[in-house]
Amino acid sequence: MLEYRPLMTSPQPSADNIPALRGIARRNALAAEAMRRLDPLYGPVVWKPRFNALEELIFTVLTQHTSDSNAEVAYDALKKQFPSWIDVLEAGPEEIAAAIKHGGLANQKAPRIREILRIILERTGHFELEFLATMPLEEARSWLISLPGVGKKTVGVVLNFALGMPAMPVDTHIYRVARRTGLIGLKTNVDDAHDIMEAQIDPDDVFQYHVLLITHGRQLCKAQRPLCGECPMADICAAMPVFAKAFEAPKYKRPVRAGQTL
Ligand code: SF4
Repeated sequence: MLEYRPLMTSPQPSADNIPALRGIARRNALAAEAMRRLDPLYGPVVWKPRFNALEELIFTVLTQHTSDSNAEVAYDALKKQFPSWIDVLEAGPEEIAAAIKHGGLANQKAPRIREILRIILERTGHFELEFLATMPLEEARSWLISLPGVGKKTVGVVLNFALGMPAMPVDTHIYRVARRTGLIGLKTNVDDAHDIMEAQIDPDDVFQYHVLLITHGRQLCKAQRPLCGECPMADICAAMPVFAKAFEAPKYKRPVRAGQTL
């Protein structure tokens, strides 16, 4: 039987570290303002599970290092070839890898998926993870993160998307938006970003916060050319002056659309 240990979260500043506490208060206020401004653009956000918890876990493993659309093709092929989780567990890694080949890194993901299923069956005697919703958040997080290849983002997706628990998943889009706007520091690593951002908002708002920021990262605050001129957060974004200056240079100049200002 595999053991799992409590997850370490980022250290919080002590009560006499006034500058650090001020920084937290400023970022919490920025998070609230970001939600207030982004919701009219991308909302309303309504939580609705797309999968049960185990399905969400396996799907999220398939999304690692590939797009959601590739992962969807791989997941559908997996379910078609192996109608039940016990079928997946009984199959060889090569058979699983062949089924999920459209998701990329199939030779790594296949044994990982099989091992995850084996451990879940060994620990629980079944293929359901809904019991996690009855645990305190930190305990549920520790249980999941002890599975092979499962990091904080995957944990956040399963607990939040499937079970409605207030765990914040931070993907590449959210991490980028958060660093640019100043919701986290430029040197904050992505692991710490999960803890920091989760604590910035009310637990009931975690899903909404995630969806608004990821949508913003996909639609306006893009990796290569953020559309700052159309962004409702431009006047409160830490990176806006940098991008505005860069776009003014001839090398970066882009066509200005009617009614658009930077
Ligand atoms: S102003 Fe630009 S960099 Fe800042 S959040 Fe908006 S799109 Fe992103």
